[in-house]
Amino acid sequence: MKVLQPNNKITQLIFGVVIILSLSQICVAQLPNIILINADDLGYGDLGCYGSPNIFTPNLDKMATEGMRFTSFYAAAVCGPSRAQLMTGSYHARVSHSMNELPGAKTGLHPNEITVAEVLKSAGYKTMHIGKWHLGDAPEFMPTQQGFDQFWGFPYSHDMWPYHSRSVWETVEDTVLMRQMRERAERVGYTVGGRWKFPPLPLIEGDGVIEKDPDITMLTMRFTEKALEFIEENKNEPFFLYLAHVMPHTPLAASDKFKGKSDRGLYGDAVMEIDWSCGEILQKLKALGIDENTLVVFTSDNGPTMRYGSDGGSAGLLRGGKGTMFEGGMRVPAIFRWPEGIPSGMCSNEMASNIDILPTFAHLVGAKIPDDRLIDGESLLPLLKAENENSPHEYIHYFGRSRPDSTATYRAIRNNKWKLFVKHSTVGEFHPLELYNLGTDPSEKYDRLDRHPKIADKLLKEAQQFYNELEENKRPIGKTRKN
Ligand code: MG
Repeated sequence: MKVLQPNNKITQLIFGVVIILSLSQICVAQLPNIILINADDLGYGDLGCYGSPNIFTPNLDKMATEGMRFTSFYAAAVCGPSRAQLMTGSYHARVSHSMNELPGAKTGLHPNEITVAEVLKSAGYKTMHIGKWHLGDAPEFMPTQQGFDQFWGFPYSHDMWPYHSRSVWETVEDTVLMRQMRERAERVGYTVGGRWKFPPLPLIEGDGVIEKDPDITMLTMRFTEKALEFIEENKNEPFFLYLAHVMPHTPLAASDKFKGKSDRGLYGDAVMEIDWSCGEILQKLKALGIDENTLVVFTSDNGPTMRYGSDGGSAGLLRGGKGTMFEGGMRVPAIFRWPEGIPSGMCSNEMASNIDILPTFAHLVGAKIPDDRLIDGESLLPLLKAENENSPHEYIHYFGRSRPDSTATYRAIRNNKWKLFVKHSTVGEFHPLELYNLGTDPSEKYDRLDRHPKIADKLLKEAQQFYNELEENKRPIGKTRKN
């Protein structure tokens, strides 16, 4: 092999350039920063790039053209369980966290669970959570006990406060579900005269309360300011920011700058403010020169709330919304942007889920995925880098929760285009309910169970097998010491 010697000025110059390039390669090879932005109750059809006709989201639309946009990305049906999945990389049924905790709950995400923040912290990342936690508000369940160096936000949902005007019982249809919720609330002392009566909403910094019942019109703005501060402070080292907006969950609010900005009422205004917030973050990354090596993920925790009329969002052409096992309840927007690693302008209809967040981030930074327990998620990195165009999942499983004990209940399974709803007996024996072809029937209008019994049978067996395995290997929810 001929080796080039630096025996004249030109070759010395070439070597110098090579060394500079090599050094810059080392800098480029620095671990990527990660920003995970989670909107609350934002529907599948509420962003411009997901077909909203009247909510303008130019920053998120642009972000989608610069990375990968998923059209079959699954979360969970409601807030708390969805966040349990996001943090643990497992189905909420696996970690027995299948309900939304109320203030003063005696349960929460088990402290022994290894969260995505703990995984990244072990790889040397600075970690911060801003916004809504909702995985238990007892001290042992809080974010600073689950891998976050810093926390600035709420321990639970911002509608759990003294002014819960939209949920006064007399405006809500007296369904069995609402009656059970009311009974539960009365049992733990949260209703007076049939109305919610929650304690003041605590805004927390670290482990201490810094404000009570803050002005909710300023929350998106304030979360964004905190996010920009954190990014600026940590620009020289790898960081993980988990920004969980409380909007557009009710009670809706937007700052004066965004009030009346959309044609879609306060809901649209709140979404536009979140879009602005994402734009500010992306702009900050560019200004600091760390844009190319930062992965930014934007998603939502569950589908749109249907019971609040125009105060709720839209699932587009998908059926159902928050709390349901139809696609509108479970499927959410998901955009991944990382200029250095994800080719621009990509869209994938492969099955993916927020259970994949932990394995994907771990894979990305070379951190160890917990191997002493079962993790349901898979790394999406090969898909994101366009090295492989297939989903790492053969099946997606849909879990709801049973009443009144709030344990998880298996409801449906998806394999490629086919989705089977099941019911199971008290002894756990599965029966088919409805079968939909999500390819030709994304709105789940036409039950094909009678026409395709063999497909239903295969899916039923897979569902039963997964359920049996999960029952054997699921892990407990955390309980307070006072429980
Ligand atoms: Mg939610």
